[in-house]
Amino acid sequence: MIRRVLLIYTGGTLGMVRDEHSGALISFALDDVLHKLPELKALGYQLDAITPFHPIDSSQVEPHHWQSIAQSIAEHYSSYDGFVVLHGTDTMAYTAGALSYMLDGLAKPVILTGSQLPLGYPRTDARENLTTAIELAGAINANGHPRVPEVCIYFDYRLFRGNRASKFDSDKFQAFQSPNYPALAEVGTAIRFQDRYIRSTNEPATESVFKLRKGIDPGVAGIRLFPGMSKSVVVPLLESPENRVLLMETFGMGNAPTHPWLLDALRQYINSGRTVVSVTQCRGGYVDMGRYHSATALREMGVVSGRDMTFEAAITKIMWLLGNDYTGIELENSISKGLKGELTET
Ligand code: ASP
Repeated sequence: MIRRVLLIYTGGTLGMVRDEHSGALISFALDDVLHKLPELKALGYQLDAITPFHPIDSSQVEPHHWQSIAQSIAEHYSSYDGFVVLHGTDTMAYTAGALSYMLDGLAKPVILTGSQLPLGYPRTDARENLTTAIELAGAINANGHPRVPEVCIYFDYRLFRGNRASKFDSDKFQAFQSPNYPALAEVGTAIRFQDRYIRSTNEPATESVFKLRKGIDPGVAGIRLFPGMSKSVVVPLLESPENRVLLMETFGMGNAPTHPWLLDALRQYINSGRTVVSVTQCRGGYVDMGRYHSATALREMGVVSGRDMTFEAAITKIMWLLGNDYTGIELENSISKGLKGELTET
């Protein structure tokens, strides 16, 4: 049976050309992308493409773009075996996080990819990233089920769980890493799937369980702790009623300075019925507020541990939970629980 893959083109470097006047990179049409890759025909897939909105540099991505991508997947869910989302690398990990929560009961591959150099440039990484992403989106196992029925990022010969990956390098072709979860596949002359890390590979792709839950509420603030942070900058943020959750990037295993002004402001924030979440600002590892004295006060006041979630996975998860009416203890429990494989439960 011919595998059917839908390409969803949202923009990014892969599909850019240099503007004659300014010299800057701007997006170009999807048809040009496909014409530049005649070898895709060799896969033998039926390949269709859509552009849900005018292609953008991914630094311009907003939650409505996530909703529009998720909506496109939902609308075409039963007609395709897999989906490839062509996306800029800058915010790809955020989009992957958001999609992983929005596409509930997903049983088909959704592979995000992009490139560091535009298609058509000498030494470009676009050709390999796109071709293999499409191959992965249509790949099936011996039972005829999709090999990777989850939201993934494919980049530079490695396939990652999307909500575990982060952009680590703005220059190297190996732009993404997944420090707390192994790659789902490594690509050489053959594609080596790591089945034990892939979600439910043997579940049939039943449409009945799939549900689009695209609610998003951006009522979250993010703050990265640093030595010398000042009361006059931080306290107004915590006093602002606009944010209902504060995502704090803490030191090491969840440690923070014990300045009384900081602890008092956080305590007041929590006492006003709002939630503080801690993720580590380290590239890998996790939060354990029981380990050092510098985290004891945070744990005692009820700061919620984001465990080993990346910042991208945590912030999109919080927006999604708020947008789906999670509040109070249900919100807090859901933050530190794994919903779509985004964190390691102990
Ligand atoms: N600024 C570009 C973007 O994120 C970078 C890239 O695609 O790699 O859209």
